[in-house]
Amino acid sequence: MNKDRHQYQPDTNAVRIQIPRTDQMEHASPMFLTSSFCFDNAEEMRATFADETDFNIYSRFSNPNVDEFVQKMCALEGGEAGYATASGMSAIFASFMALLKAGDHLLSARSIFGSTHTVITKFLPKWGITTSYFDITDDPASIAAMIKPNTRMIFLETPSNPGLEIIDIEMLSRIAKEHKVILNVDNAFATPVLQKPLAHGADLVTHSATKWIDGQGRVLGGVVVGKKELIKEIYTFCRSTGPSMSPFNAWVLSKSLETLFVRMERHSDSALKLAKALENNPHLSLVKYPFLPSHPQYAIAQKQMSGGGGIVCFELKGGLQQGVRFLDALQLLSLTANLGDSRSIASHPASTTHAKLSEEERAIAGITPGLIRISVGLENIKDILEDIEQALEKSK
Ligand SMILES: *Cc1c(COP(=O)(O)O)cnc(C)c1O
Repeated sequence: MNKDRHQYQPDTNAVRIQIPRTDQMEHASPMFLTSSFCFDNAEEMRATFADETDFNIYSRFSNPNVDEFVQKMCALEGGEAGYATASGMSAIFASFMALLKAGDHLLSARSIFGSTHTVITKFLPKWGITTSYFDITDDPASIAAMIKPNTRMIFLETPSNPGLEIIDIEMLSRIAKEHKVILNVDNAFATPVLQKPLAHGADLVTHSATKWIDGQGRVLGGVVVGKKELIKEIYTFCRSTGPSMSPFNAWVLSKSLETLFVRMERHSDSALKLAKALENNPHLSLVKYPFLPSHPQYAIAQKQMSGGGGIVCFELKGGLQQGVRFLDALQLLSLTANLGDSRSIASHPASTTHAKLSEEERAIAGITPGLIRISVGLENIKDILEDIEQALEKSK
């Protein structure tokens, strides 16, 4: 690139940021499937190990394809630095392990991804890290009152999976700054196309790149982006513990970013159409979508997001049993444990991901018996809507 990336628009950067061309003059970035990198002489090798150069050493530390993906993510999120990991969970886990120590306290939103909840409740206590949860209905003063002298980080996910709760990032960043704690935001549902947490005052952004970033249901990946000094700690932790992203996955994900803006626009557009079309469906007691005025946090969504994203949730009047019948009646939509794919996906948390919980436990996690989550794909919206409407009719 001849111009500095700051002179281009984000959607141009998503296409054009590229590792330097090799002497083969390739147009697309080649795949660097190599575990390690060579040195011309002993002095160069010594200097590189002493951090005096930025040459690659070993692909657990860095790799050209992974660098390309990270550079794009930094440009899109507006972050100083980043590190890419094998999955979204390893990105979140690394952000906890690198920045929290025994005796520290984490303040987290209650509505978070299931595996993140497992990490917080099952594993962090093993290392003496405690957590409190705040609720979406808590006012800023009561959230601030939950901060203890040993609180080191606030973690949140917005919109949340699967309940689509929206948290005011700016409000939380004010609390975080006032108490000098790190604000860490899981931005997997919105992607940097629709929401930039760092611009709203967050210190770190974590992603599952498996979802909308890949966008085609192929590879797992994760990334953490944010302040240089925080990413340095995360890099140091990951370089030694090994949750690095594979060069192959990085190559796939960097290509995916080239189409992220176009895809998110279409996903959001179709999801809003679907949500509006279902609003008056007689088989549903509720339709939830961030950009529907009936969403409880519609005003916050309008303030911090430029589109509502690709997930629509609704509640079946017939509860748990209708949920099962609804899945069976679908003809086009896939039944699969992913989201953010070009193919539309339906899921019913109460009979699948959250089936082991009691009804009370599910209620606390925001999972009602008839809750259906639709990941709106890139098919024609007419076909998506028709399939859902016929399945609603059949399952009533
Ligand atoms: C899927 C998901 C994760 C976990 O990501 P993986 O890539 O599956 O490890 C974390 N947060 C959110 C919001 C997710 O949807």
